[in-house]
Amino acid sequence: MMSIVTVLGAVAATLSIFDRIAAVKPGADTSKLSARMLAAVATIDTVSRRTIGRGAIITSGVDGTHRDGSKHYTGNAVDLRTNDLAVSTINVYARELDEALNGRGHRFDVLIASNHIHIEYDPKNYRMGVGRE
Ligand SMILES: [Zn+2]
Repeated sequence: MMSIVTVLGAVAATLSIFDRIAAVKPGADTSKLSARMLAAVATIDTVSRRTIGRGAIITSGVDGTHRDGSKHYTGNAVDLRTNDLAVSTINVYARELDEALNGRGHRFDVLIASNHIHIEYDPKNYRMGVGRE
């Protein structure tokens, strides 16, 4: 039989895992994100807490209207809320995200859009900074 300490440890571990999951705006669909993007979301959330003092808020996953061929449609892109952040903070946030996601090789684009940061898995064509997704 498991001791109460073991049970409490398991509960605490479970709670901390859920505590680390990024928030998702109502209506944003993250259910079909690719495995690579899901793994990236954990990193993105960690960077968010460290850099902007809150978890990442995903405002778009596979939902929404994007350009033809957008990585959103294949579950390889997410948009992050930035409309509550100062421009200088957004720039730091994007740099930190880029460093954390691409520290071992350029695989993710980090693009600063007018009201969000767009992140996509795109190992062939690395882009970083202000730009169109
Ligand atoms: Zn996007």
